[in-house]
Amino acid sequence: MKELTFKIKQVFMGTRVIENQVKYQILCGVCAFIHLFFVMLFFYGKAYFLLTFNIISVFFYLLVGMIFAAKEKYRILFIMAFFEIELNSDISSVMLGSGYEFMIYTLSLIPGAFYMAHTWPSTSKSKYGISLIPLISTSIIGASYVVVDVLYSIIPATYTGEDMERLKVVFHYFNIMAAVLLLLVFSILSAFEVRYIWKMLNDENSRLGEIAAKDPLTKALNRRSLNELISREMSNDSDIKFGLIILDIDDFKNVNDTYGHNVGDQVLIGIANTIKASIRDNDLLCRWGGEEFLIMVHGSGDDFAVIAERIRKNVETQEFKAEQAVFKVTVTLGASEYQTGLKLRTLIDMADQKLYFGKNHGKNQVVV
Ligand code: GH3
Ligand code: MG
Ligand code: MG
Repeated sequence: MKELTFKIKQVFMGTRVIENQVKYQILCGVCAFIHLFFVMLFFYGKAYFLLTFNIISVFFYLLVGMIFAAKEKYRILFIMAFFEIELNSDISSVMLGSGYEFMIYTLSLIPGAFYMAHTWPSTSKSKYGISLIPLISTSIIGASYVVVDVLYSIIPATYTGEDMERLKVVFHYFNIMAAVLLLLVFSILSAFEVRYIWKMLNDENSRLGEIAAKDPLTKALNRRSLNELISREMSNDSDIKFGLIILDIDDFKNVNDTYGHNVGDQVLIGIANTIKASIRDNDLLCRWGGEEFLIMVHGSGDDFAVIAERIRKNVETQEFKAEQAVFKVTVTLGASEYQTGLKLRTLIDMADQKLYFGKNHGKNQVVV
Protein backbone atom coordinates (compact mmCIF):
# COMPACT_ATOMS: atom_id res chain seq x y z
CA MET A 1 0.00 0.00 0.00
CA LYS A 2 2.83 2.34 0.94
CA GLU A 3 4.58 1.44 -2.30
CA LEU A 4 1.41 2.15 -4.29
CA THR A 5 0.94 5.62 -2.76
CA PHE A 6 4.59 6.33 -3.47
CA LYS A 7 4.16 5.27 -7.13
CA ILE A 8 1.02 7.41 -7.49
CA LYS A 9 2.88 10.37 -5.98
CA GLN A 10 5.68 9.88 -8.52
CA VAL A 11 3.17 9.84 -11.38
CA PHE A 12 1.73 13.15 -10.15
CA MET A 13 5.20 14.66 -9.85
CA GLY A 14 6.11 13.58 -13.38
CA THR A 15 8.93 11.27 -12.33
CA ARG A 16 7.15 8.08 -13.28
CA VAL A 17 4.94 6.95 -16.13
CA ILE A 18 2.12 4.45 -15.60
CA GLU A 19 3.13 1.12 -17.14
CA ASN A 20 1.05 0.05 -20.15
CA GLN A 21 0.07 -3.19 -18.47
CA VAL A 22 -1.37 -1.40 -15.43
CA LYS A 23 -3.10 1.13 -17.68
CA TYR A 24 -4.83 -1.56 -19.75
CA GLN A 25 -5.77 -3.59 -16.71
CA ILE A 26 -7.37 -0.55 -15.07
CA LEU A 27 -9.24 0.34 -18.28
CA CYS A 28 -10.49 -3.26 -18.65
CA GLY A 29 -11.61 -3.14 -15.01
CA VAL A 30 -13.47 0.14 -15.58
CA CYS A 31 -15.16 -1.20 -18.75
CA ALA A 32 -16.15 -4.43 -16.96
CA PHE A 33 -17.64 -2.36 -14.14
CA ILE A 34 -19.67 -0.18 -16.54
CA HIS A 35 -21.00 -3.27 -18.36
CA LEU A 36 -21.85 -4.95 -15.07
CA PHE A 37 -23.95 -1.91 -14.21
CA PHE A 38 -25.71 -2.25 -17.59
CA VAL A 39 -26.31 -5.97 -16.91
CA MET A 40 -28.24 -5.05 -13.77
CA LEU A 41 -30.24 -2.35 -15.51
CA PHE A 42 -31.09 -4.51 -18.54
CA PHE A 43 -32.10 -7.34 -16.24
CA TYR A 44 -34.47 -4.96 -14.47
CA GLY A 45 -35.69 -3.60 -17.82
CA LYS A 46 -36.12 -7.15 -19.26
CA ALA A 47 -34.00 -6.24 -22.28
CA TYR A 48 -32.63 -9.78 -22.58
CA PHE A 49 -30.67 -9.42 -25.81
CA LEU A 50 -28.77 -6.43 -24.45
CA LEU A 51 -28.43 -8.22 -21.11
CA THR A 52 -26.70 -11.15 -22.85
CA PHE A 53 -24.47 -8.84 -24.90
CA ASN A 54 -23.35 -7.08 -21.73
CA ILE A 55 -22.72 -10.31 -19.81
CA ILE A 56 -20.43 -11.38 -22.65
CA SER A 57 -18.75 -7.97 -22.51
CA VAL A 58 -18.10 -8.28 -18.77
CA PHE A 59 -16.44 -11.68 -19.36
CA PHE A 60 -14.53 -10.30 -22.30
CA TYR A 61 -12.95 -7.54 -20.20
CA LEU A 62 -12.34 -9.66 -17.12
CA LEU A 63 -10.91 -12.68 -18.96
CA VAL A 64 -9.70 -11.87 -22.46
CA GLY A 65 -8.86 -8.25 -21.56
CA MET A 66 -6.84 -9.10 -18.50
CA ILE A 67 -5.00 -11.98 -20.23
CA PHE A 68 -4.14 -9.83 -23.29
CA ALA A 69 -3.00 -6.99 -21.03
CA ALA A 70 -0.79 -9.38 -19.07
CA LYS A 71 0.66 -10.70 -22.36
CA GLU A 72 1.22 -7.11 -23.53
CA LYS A 73 -0.96 -7.63 -26.61
CA TYR A 74 -2.16 -4.04 -26.48
CA ARG A 75 -2.89 -3.44 -30.13
CA ILE A 76 -5.25 -6.39 -30.59
CA LEU A 77 -6.83 -5.71 -27.20
CA PHE A 78 -7.52 -2.12 -28.21
CA ILE A 79 -9.04 -3.19 -31.55
CA MET A 80 -11.32 -5.76 -29.86
CA ALA A 81 -12.38 -3.30 -27.15
CA PHE A 82 -12.99 -0.66 -29.80
CA PHE A 83 -15.40 -2.90 -31.72
CA GLU A 84 -17.06 -4.05 -28.50
CA ILE A 85 -17.76 -0.44 -27.47
CA GLU A 86 -18.76 0.67 -30.96
CA LEU A 87 -21.11 -2.30 -31.53
CA ASN A 88 -22.53 -2.15 -28.02
CA SER A 89 -23.27 1.56 -28.40
CA ASP A 90 -24.75 1.16 -31.91
CA ILE A 91 -26.96 -1.82 -31.04
CA SER A 92 -28.11 -0.41 -27.69
CA SER A 93 -28.96 2.93 -29.32
CA VAL A 94 -30.94 1.39 -32.15
CA MET A 95 -32.79 -1.08 -29.90
CA LEU A 96 -33.62 1.49 -27.21
CA GLY A 97 -34.28 4.58 -29.29
CA SER A 98 -33.18 8.12 -28.57
CA GLY A 99 -32.39 9.63 -25.18
CA TYR A 100 -30.24 6.83 -23.76
CA GLU A 101 -26.98 8.44 -24.87
CA PHE A 102 -25.04 5.28 -25.69
CA MET A 103 -23.33 6.90 -28.68
CA ILE A 104 -21.50 9.36 -26.46
CA TYR A 105 -19.08 6.56 -25.47
CA THR A 106 -17.88 6.28 -29.01
CA LEU A 107 -16.84 9.95 -28.94
CA SER A 108 -14.61 9.41 -25.92
CA LEU A 109 -12.92 6.68 -27.94
CA ILE A 110 -11.41 9.25 -30.32
CA PRO A 111 -8.82 10.77 -27.95
CA GLY A 112 -8.54 7.31 -26.37
CA ALA A 113 -7.56 5.78 -29.71
CA PHE A 114 -4.89 8.43 -30.39
CA TYR A 115 -3.51 8.17 -26.89
CA MET A 116 -3.42 4.36 -26.88
CA ALA A 117 -1.96 3.99 -30.37
CA HIS A 118 0.82 6.44 -29.64
CA THR A 119 1.83 4.78 -26.41
CA TRP A 120 2.16 1.25 -27.76
CA PRO A 121 5.71 -0.01 -27.24
CA SER A 122 6.56 -0.20 -30.96
CA THR A 123 4.15 2.10 -32.72
CA SER A 124 3.93 1.42 -36.41
CA LYS A 125 3.24 4.93 -37.56
CA SER A 126 2.81 6.06 -41.11
CA LYS A 127 5.46 8.33 -42.58
CA TYR A 128 3.40 11.28 -41.35
CA GLY A 129 3.97 10.17 -37.77
CA ILE A 130 0.35 9.33 -37.02
CA SER A 131 -0.74 5.77 -36.52
CA LEU A 132 -3.45 4.70 -38.95
CA ILE A 133 -5.46 2.85 -36.32
CA PRO A 134 -6.83 5.96 -34.54
CA LEU A 135 -7.60 7.59 -37.90
CA ILE A 136 -9.56 4.54 -39.04
CA SER A 137 -11.25 4.33 -35.62
CA THR A 138 -12.30 7.99 -35.86
CA SER A 139 -13.77 7.44 -39.34
CA ILE A 140 -15.74 4.42 -38.11
CA ILE A 141 -16.97 6.41 -35.09
CA GLY A 142 -18.08 9.35 -37.26
CA ALA A 143 -19.80 7.15 -39.84
CA SER A 144 -21.65 5.03 -37.29
CA TYR A 145 -22.77 8.15 -35.43
CA VAL A 146 -24.58 9.35 -38.55
CA VAL A 147 -25.90 5.87 -39.49
CA VAL A 148 -27.27 5.21 -36.00
CA ASP A 149 -28.83 8.68 -35.95
CA VAL A 150 -30.68 7.85 -39.17
CA LEU A 151 -31.63 4.36 -37.97
CA TYR A 152 -33.27 5.84 -34.85
CA SER A 153 -35.80 7.60 -36.98
CA ILE A 154 -36.56 4.66 -39.28
CA ILE A 155 -36.47 1.58 -37.04
CA PRO A 156 -38.86 1.56 -34.10
CA ALA A 157 -37.21 0.83 -30.75
CA THR A 158 -37.25 -2.84 -29.66
CA TYR A 159 -37.49 -2.20 -25.93
CA THR A 160 -40.24 0.22 -25.14
CA GLY A 161 -41.56 -1.36 -21.94
CA GLU A 162 -42.48 0.73 -18.94
CA ASP A 163 -39.51 -0.50 -16.90
CA MET A 164 -37.11 0.45 -19.66
CA GLU A 165 -38.72 3.90 -19.99
CA ARG A 166 -38.27 4.42 -16.26
CA LEU A 167 -34.58 3.57 -16.61
CA LYS A 168 -34.09 6.01 -19.46
CA VAL A 169 -33.11 8.89 -17.17
CA VAL A 170 -30.63 6.65 -15.31
CA PHE A 171 -28.98 5.57 -18.56
CA HIS A 172 -29.04 9.11 -19.88
CA TYR A 173 -27.07 10.64 -17.03
CA PHE A 174 -24.92 7.60 -16.23
CA ASN A 175 -23.75 7.34 -19.83
CA ILE A 176 -22.96 11.03 -20.07
CA MET A 177 -21.05 10.96 -16.82
CA ALA A 178 -19.18 7.74 -17.59
CA ALA A 179 -18.17 9.00 -21.04
CA VAL A 180 -16.97 12.31 -19.56
CA LEU A 181 -15.05 10.33 -16.97
CA LEU A 182 -13.38 8.26 -19.69
CA LEU A 183 -12.47 11.46 -21.56
CA LEU A 184 -11.02 12.82 -18.36
CA VAL A 185 -9.00 9.65 -17.78
CA PHE A 186 -7.50 9.78 -21.29
CA SER A 187 -6.76 13.49 -20.93
CA ILE A 188 -5.10 13.04 -17.56
CA LEU A 189 -3.06 10.07 -18.81
CA SER A 190 -1.87 12.08 -21.84
CA ALA A 191 -1.05 15.09 -19.68
CA PHE A 192 0.92 12.98 -17.21
CA GLU A 193 2.82 11.32 -19.99
CA VAL A 194 3.68 14.61 -21.70
CA ARG A 195 4.90 15.97 -18.37
CA TYR A 196 6.95 12.87 -17.70
CA ILE A 197 8.58 13.06 -21.12
CA TRP A 198 9.33 16.78 -20.71
CA LYS A 199 10.91 16.16 -17.35
CA MET A 200 12.91 13.25 -18.69
CA LEU A 201 14.15 15.33 -21.64
CA ASN A 202 15.08 18.24 -19.39
CA ASP A 203 16.96 15.99 -16.99
CA GLU A 204 18.72 14.24 -19.85
CA ASN A 205 19.61 17.58 -21.44
CA SER A 206 21.15 18.92 -18.28
CA ARG A 207 22.98 15.63 -17.77
CA LEU A 208 24.39 15.80 -21.31
CA GLY A 209 25.19 19.50 -20.81
CA GLU A 210 27.09 18.61 -17.68
CA ILE A 211 29.00 15.84 -19.48
CA ALA A 212 29.85 18.17 -22.36
CA ALA A 213 30.98 20.97 -20.04
CA LYS A 214 33.11 19.04 -17.57
CA ASP A 215 36.26 17.01 -17.41
CA PRO A 216 35.17 13.48 -16.47
CA LEU A 217 38.05 12.83 -14.06
CA THR A 218 38.11 15.93 -11.88
CA LYS A 219 34.62 17.29 -12.67
CA ALA A 220 36.26 20.67 -13.29
CA LEU A 221 35.07 22.64 -16.35
CA ASN A 222 36.78 21.89 -19.65
CA ARG A 223 38.49 24.54 -21.76
CA ARG A 224 35.57 25.17 -24.07
CA SER A 225 33.04 25.75 -21.32
CA LEU A 226 35.43 27.95 -19.32
CA ASN A 227 36.04 30.13 -22.40
CA GLU A 228 32.29 30.35 -22.97
CA LEU A 229 31.48 31.21 -19.36
CA ILE A 230 34.19 33.88 -19.02
CA SER A 231 33.29 35.44 -22.39
CA ARG A 232 29.64 35.53 -21.34
CA GLU A 233 30.51 37.26 -18.05
CA MET A 234 32.77 39.74 -19.85
CA SER A 235 30.04 40.68 -22.33
CA ASN A 236 27.41 40.97 -19.57
CA ASP A 237 29.46 43.29 -17.35
CA SER A 238 31.86 45.78 -18.91
CA ASP A 239 33.25 46.70 -15.46
CA ILE A 240 33.94 43.10 -14.51
CA LYS A 241 36.84 42.61 -12.09
CA PHE A 242 38.50 39.23 -12.05
CA GLY A 243 41.81 37.51 -12.15
CA LEU A 244 43.08 34.29 -13.67
CA ILE A 245 45.27 31.85 -11.83
CA ILE A 246 47.11 29.08 -13.66
CA LEU A 247 48.15 26.22 -11.45
CA ASP A 248 50.54 23.46 -12.41
CA ILE A 249 51.40 20.50 -10.21
CA ASP A 250 55.13 20.36 -9.45
CA ASP A 251 57.04 17.32 -10.64
CA PHE A 252 53.86 15.45 -11.35
CA LYS A 253 55.68 13.12 -13.69
CA ASN A 254 57.53 11.81 -10.61
CA VAL A 255 54.22 11.05 -8.90
CA ASN A 256 53.15 8.93 -11.85
CA ASP A 257 56.54 7.28 -12.14
CA THR A 258 56.76 6.50 -8.41
CA TYR A 259 53.21 5.56 -7.49
CA GLY A 260 51.56 4.76 -10.82
CA HIS A 261 49.04 6.47 -13.06
CA ASN A 262 46.01 5.58 -10.90
CA VAL A 263 47.49 7.29 -7.87
CA GLY A 264 48.34 10.21 -10.19
CA ASP A 265 44.66 10.39 -11.13
CA GLN A 266 43.67 10.43 -7.45
CA VAL A 267 46.07 13.32 -6.89
CA LEU A 268 44.44 15.26 -9.74
CA ILE A 269 40.98 14.66 -8.23
CA GLY A 270 42.22 15.58 -4.75
CA ILE A 271 43.82 18.82 -5.92
CA ALA A 272 40.73 19.78 -7.95
CA ASN A 273 38.62 19.29 -4.81
CA THR A 274 41.03 21.35 -2.72
CA ILE A 275 40.87 24.18 -5.25
CA LYS A 276 37.05 24.01 -5.32
CA ALA A 277 36.99 24.22 -1.54
CA SER A 278 39.34 27.25 -1.60
CA ILE A 279 37.33 29.40 -4.04
CA ARG A 280 33.81 30.84 -3.98
CA ASP A 281 30.79 29.27 -5.67
CA ASN A 282 30.73 31.85 -8.46
CA ASP A 283 34.45 31.43 -9.24
CA LEU A 284 35.33 28.96 -11.98
CA LEU A 285 37.68 26.01 -12.00
CA CYS A 286 38.83 24.46 -15.26
CA ARG A 287 41.15 21.60 -16.07
CA TRP A 288 43.26 23.42 -18.59
CA GLY A 289 45.54 20.56 -19.56
CA GLY A 290 46.98 17.33 -18.14
CA GLU A 291 48.05 18.56 -14.67
CA GLU A 292 47.27 22.23 -15.15
CA PHE A 293 44.23 24.04 -13.80
CA LEU A 294 42.92 27.48 -14.69
CA ILE A 295 40.95 29.34 -12.05
CA MET A 296 38.84 32.44 -12.60
CA VAL A 297 38.49 34.43 -9.40
CA HIS A 298 36.12 37.37 -9.10
CA GLY A 299 37.45 40.53 -7.43
CA SER A 300 40.56 42.66 -7.71
CA GLY A 301 44.30 41.91 -7.47
CA ASP A 302 44.64 41.43 -3.73
CA ASP A 303 41.71 39.05 -3.57
CA PHE A 304 43.05 36.50 -5.99
CA ALA A 305 46.64 36.79 -4.75
CA VAL A 306 45.30 35.79 -1.35
CA ILE A 307 43.23 32.99 -2.83
CA ALA A 308 46.18 31.69 -4.88
CA GLU A 309 48.32 31.59 -1.74
CA ARG A 310 45.51 29.82 0.15
CA ILE A 311 45.31 27.17 -2.57
CA ARG A 312 49.08 26.69 -2.53
CA LYS A 313 49.10 26.19 1.24
CA ASN A 314 46.07 23.89 1.25
CA VAL A 315 47.68 21.66 -1.38
CA GLU A 316 51.02 21.67 0.42
CA THR A 317 49.45 20.28 3.59
CA GLN A 318 47.24 17.75 1.81
CA GLU A 319 48.26 14.10 2.18
CA PHE A 320 47.84 11.49 -0.54
CA LYS A 321 47.92 7.75 -0.07
CA ALA A 322 49.59 5.24 -2.31
CA GLU A 323 49.69 1.49 -1.54
CA GLN A 324 52.73 1.67 0.71
CA ALA A 325 53.20 5.36 1.25
CA VAL A 326 51.72 8.66 2.25
CA PHE A 327 53.06 11.61 0.28
CA LYS A 328 52.47 15.27 -0.44
CA VAL A 329 52.72 17.39 -3.58
CA THR A 330 53.19 21.07 -4.24
CA VAL A 331 51.90 23.41 -6.90
CA THR A 332 53.14 26.54 -8.63
CA LEU A 333 50.68 29.30 -9.51
CA GLY A 334 50.79 32.31 -11.80
CA ALA A 335 48.12 34.99 -11.45
CA SER A 336 47.12 37.97 -13.62
CA GLU A 337 44.47 40.60 -13.17
CA TYR A 338 42.05 41.42 -15.94
CA GLN A 339 42.22 44.98 -17.30
CA THR A 340 39.38 46.36 -19.41
CA GLY A 341 40.02 45.78 -23.10
CA LEU A 342 42.42 42.91 -22.52
CA LYS A 343 41.84 39.80 -24.58
CA LEU A 344 41.21 36.59 -22.66
CA ARG A 345 43.96 34.85 -24.59
CA THR A 346 46.45 37.61 -23.63
CA LEU A 347 45.45 37.37 -19.98
CA ILE A 348 46.02 33.62 -19.99
CA ASP A 349 49.45 34.10 -21.62
CA MET A 350 50.36 36.63 -18.91
CA ALA A 351 49.41 34.19 -16.14
CA ASP A 352 51.27 31.43 -17.97
CA GLN A 353 54.46 33.49 -18.10
CA LYS A 354 54.23 34.04 -14.35
CA LEU A 355 53.76 30.34 -13.82
CA TYR A 356 56.82 29.70 -15.98
CA PHE A 357 58.78 32.19 -13.89
CA GLY A 358 57.72 30.37 -10.70
CA LYS A 359 58.70 27.01 -12.17
CA ASN A 360 62.17 28.37 -12.94
CA HIS A 361 62.58 29.94 -9.52
CA GLY A 362 62.09 27.03 -7.16
CA LYS A 363 58.42 26.00 -7.74
CA ASN A 364 55.85 25.74 -4.88
CA GLN A 365 55.07 29.46 -5.05
CA VAL A 366 52.59 32.07 -6.22
CA VAL A 367 53.77 34.62 -8.78
CA VAL A 368 51.50 37.66 -9.12
P1 GH3 B 1 56.81 20.52 -13.61
O1 GH3 B 1 57.04 20.69 -12.18
O2 GH3 B 1 57.83 21.24 -14.43
O3 GH3 B 1 55.43 20.87 -13.99
O4 GH3 B 1 57.05 18.99 -13.91
P2 GH3 B 1 55.96 17.93 -14.24
O5 GH3 B 1 56.54 16.57 -14.08
O6 GH3 B 1 54.74 18.19 -13.44
O7 GH3 B 1 55.60 18.25 -15.73
P3 GH3 B 1 55.65 17.37 -17.03
O8 GH3 B 1 55.00 18.22 -18.09
O9 GH3 B 1 57.03 16.86 -17.30
O10 GH3 B 1 54.73 16.13 -16.74
C1 GH3 B 1 53.36 16.21 -16.59
C2 GH3 B 1 52.86 14.84 -16.33
O11 GH3 B 1 51.47 14.85 -16.08
C3 GH3 B 1 53.09 13.90 -17.47
C4 GH3 B 1 51.77 13.23 -17.70
O12 GH3 B 1 51.87 11.85 -17.80
C5 GH3 B 1 50.99 13.58 -16.47
N1 GH3 B 1 49.57 13.61 -16.71
C6 GH3 B 1 48.90 14.39 -17.56
N2 GH3 B 1 47.57 14.11 -17.52
C7 GH3 B 1 47.42 13.13 -16.61
C8 GH3 B 1 46.30 12.39 -16.12
O13 GH3 B 1 45.14 12.59 -16.52
N3 GH3 B 1 46.52 11.44 -15.18
C9 GH3 B 1 47.76 11.18 -14.72
N4 GH3 B 1 47.91 10.25 -13.79
N5 GH3 B 1 48.83 11.84 -15.18
C10 GH3 B 1 48.68 12.80 -16.10
MG1 MG C 1 52.41 21.07 -17.00
MG1 MG D 1 53.73 19.98 -13.68
